[in-house]
Amino acid sequence: MSDALEVLNPATEELVAVVPAATRDDVDAAVVRATAAQRAWAAAAPADRARLLRRFAAVIDGHIEELALLEVREAGHTIGNARWEAGNVRDVLDFAAGGVERLSGRQIPVAGGIDVTFLEPLGVIGVIAPWNFPMPIAAWGLAPALAAGNAVILKPAETTPLTALRLAELALEAGLPEHLFQVLPGRGEVAGDALVEHPGVAKIVFTGSTRIGKRIMAKCADRVKRLTLELGGKNPNIVFADADLEAAAASAPMSFLDNTGQDCCARTRILVQRSAYDRFMELLAPAVEKVVVGDPYDENTQLGPLISRVQLDRVRSYVTDDLTVVRGTAPEGPGFWYPPTLVTGVDPTAAIATEEVFGPVAVVLPFEDEEDAVRLANATDYGLAGSLWTRDVGRALRVSRAVAAGNLSVNSHSSVRYWTPFGGYKQSGLGRELGPDSLTAFTETKNVFISTEA
Ligand code: NAD
Repeated sequence: MSDALEVLNPATEELVAVVPAATRDDVDAAVVRATAAQRAWAAAAPADRARLLRRFAAVIDGHIEELALLEVREAGHTIGNARWEAGNVRDVLDFAAGGVERLSGRQIPVAGGIDVTFLEPLGVIGVIAPWNFPMPIAAWGLAPALAAGNAVILKPAETTPLTALRLAELALEAGLPEHLFQVLPGRGEVAGDALVEHPGVAKIVFTGSTRIGKRIMAKCADRVKRLTLELGGKNPNIVFADADLEAAAASAPMSFLDNTGQDCCARTRILVQRSAYDRFMELLAPAVEKVVVGDPYDENTQLGPLISRVQLDRVRSYVTDDLTVVRGTAPEGPGFWYPPTLVTGVDPTAAIATEEVFGPVAVVLPFEDEEDAVRLANATDYGLAGSLWTRDVGRALRVSRAVAAGNLSVNSHSSVRYWTPFGGYKQSGLGRELGPDSLTAFTETKNVFISTEA
């Protein structure tokens, strides 16, 4: 019997759908179709390509609620978050569409002629997406790739193929050419690997674990295949004693709990200056305890379940009985539930303080002074995001420059906007997504010199 993916509702463990898993032959056939579609797409007038992408965004806008409800069912996201996610796909497409006619090369002074550069599409792009933000992360790859004149084959995560499949249907409804954007649900080691190995796929955009990202990078090296990696994070939230402690404590819970902590930008290492530690904990602990965990369809719910039993077991394995914890509440019964959890008194080098747990768990660690804060913040192989809280502007700038991470936020926890660049230092990734340069990541630069003296 052919392989199939079972999609479960993480809040109830009910079977939502069974989806056939793509084989290596399916990937081969998809690449052939995509290659033909890409040639025609690249040859189309930029204004026409832009118009079609804007139309795709408009069709998504008309299906926000449907897509959001699908995301709640297959990923257990809260309805509020899921609406934001569907809206983000629309916005990323609109933003990318605005870049199509602006994707201009350069004219560079060279004696004896003219020298121009062209930004040419790469061809067929393989986007391998994770389950934590199935829709937005897919869009961050597919929208700029299409806008720059490429075709896209998207492989969603095993647990969350449904919104991706719906996006492909909506693309056709919007009038995008057939086979230009294809979705192949399948297993990582089969369909994902086939995309990585396929000579007809020019670039891989991968978001997921650092472990798999490294494996993909090694395989891409064989062909010098282009690659963007968005990997894990163990992001610091640095609270200095001079900060507005009330505001810092009020915002800290959702900075690591949003999406049930299944967020590569989750601020899961809360570093607090020792002189303010006790006061900060007095404010933080009750704020964590009162976070509302429950039915994702309820508008008041702040946290849903984890994605799967595998992820639940993984989170449990980190929070051992010997740890000192502050816990919120979570529903009992079916579903992959885990309560909001703060861990204190751990060694900064412990696994729970250095590895990505990907659940509603943060550690709180004290530090002495600015130098110590920077040292602790950087004491990880990751470097994706971080926050710092202080009223001292000079310190805010010094620490922002000293922390090795791609996305920092002062007196706030923002990190992802479709119009600003996003990506990681160190083992958090390679390359950047979103922002003003997102389209150029899907192009080759070609330089042509034309002699005027021949
Ligand atoms: P993963 O890295 O295994 O999966 C991510 C995607 O890669 C999925 O689509 C998967 O099918 C695919 N994949 C898996 N093996 C592959 C291979 N050999 N070749 C090509 N594609 C392959 O992530 P996971 O197992 O779902 O989660 C494990 C951990 O990874 C999490 O606990 C978390 O720490 C981390 N994670 C991080 C992010 C992020 O946004 N940075 C997202 C998901 C998971």
